[in-house]
Amino acid sequence: MKKTLLKNLHVINPCSDPAFIENAFVAISGETIESVDSSEPSGTFDEVFDLDGKVALPGMINAHHHLYSALAVGMPLPKGNPTNFTEILQEVWWKMDLALDRDSTQACFESGLLDSLKAGTTTFIDHHCSPSFIEGSLSLLAETGEKFGLNSSVAFEITDRNGTEKFEASLQENINAVRKFSDHPNVHPLIGLHASFTLSEDSLRKIRTALDSLKSWGIHIHVSEDKADEEDALKKGYGSVLERLDKFDLLNENALIIHGLHIKDSDVDLLQKHKAQIVHNPSSNANNRVGMSSNNTINQLKSGLGTDGMQGSMLREGKEGMLIRSSHLDGGEDSANYLQLLFENNPKIASKLFGKKLGYILPEYQADLAIFDYAPRTPISDATIFGHVFFGLSGLPCDVMTRGEFRIRDYQLQNFSEQEIKANAVTQAKKLWVHFS
Ligand SMILES: [Zn+2]
Repeated sequence: MKKTLLKNLHVINPCSDPAFIENAFVAISGETIESVDSSEPSGTFDEVFDLDGKVALPGMINAHHHLYSALAVGMPLPKGNPTNFTEILQEVWWKMDLALDRDSTQACFESGLLDSLKAGTTTFIDHHCSPSFIEGSLSLLAETGEKFGLNSSVAFEITDRNGTEKFEASLQENINAVRKFSDHPNVHPLIGLHASFTLSEDSLRKIRTALDSLKSWGIHIHVSEDKADEEDALKKGYGSVLERLDKFDLLNENALIIHGLHIKDSDVDLLQKHKAQIVHNPSSNANNRVGMSSNNTINQLKSGLGTDGMQGSMLREGKEGMLIRSSHLDGGEDSANYLQLLFENNPKIASKLFGKKLGYILPEYQADLAIFDYAPRTPISDATIFGHVFFGLSGLPCDVMTRGEFRIRDYQLQNFSEQEIKANAVTQAKKLWVHFS
């Protein structure tokens, strides 16, 4: 097994004790970190890299992403002027996802993952939707994730909104992915459901029945992103969206519940009972003007942090989340701890899903590192980590390592051409945007 040594590297594990190790030596064996120490380890190494005093964070985890939205950056605004969340979905996202074919979907995956990797995001949990290209889409996503050397969680959003045939095909695509990738070391399949309000009683029943054929499964679903989702569940005779999902026996410890902005205390109890995981997406919530998760929900449920397709950078998402929340607080009020969401809760979620240790630069963890050319103008110590992470390390990492291999070195991608990916994305975006002009 290849042995690699990183030396002269300042290591920050924001939610570990100690959080800061100055001038560390990181020994890596194959894909795994063997030791992190301030003295040089004995033994011989196949490769030794002197990082010249750079600063390393653990490779970051995006707990909810939509790579299919990667080509929406700069897209023409919808002709209608959406005035609420449901209209935003109808006018923008449901038109866009329906227009995606295989080539544009691939361009989304590649350019979205390029954006993520360059920002030091080394694990992503995706919620995919391309209703005109369903069969094989999750395999394409898993292959693209592998090409980038990332940990990929894949799921296809099942919904009623495109008719029975596409509903059935989407359900099958999820089932096929679970069968194909359950034992894969770097790919974790989940069962994607768009949201309760776009799934009928009959559809939830069909989904639940199909899951009986699987050994293990977990759903990945938007819940209570907007009040309209809760109102729909009430109209259907349930106390809440989560009560509806529970009635269909869809909640378990593998479930990822996204948003949960308007959930009740009894819903929090329900999630705790099933040990289901909630994920908070602050920049998307602000952009859609749907409200804010309560501190209580975030803290009690040890919420994860996702970008909901808004961006690939988790450092930016954490900082934006903190600032959005602060803007709604009075002086002296407590905020949510975004450092904890990003560097403690997300690693816990990802380590459980993928069945391996992710999200820390510590022995036995996968060697995923984001290394920054950062010369701080103030001292770094355990007590000052928060400020350095969210206000100092604001740029892109110069080096990104996953599974013990440098994927980016001195800002250069090592295994493929950034220019080709971008050129293809521009071509595909022009084709896609025709549907909106
Ligand atoms: Zn989402």
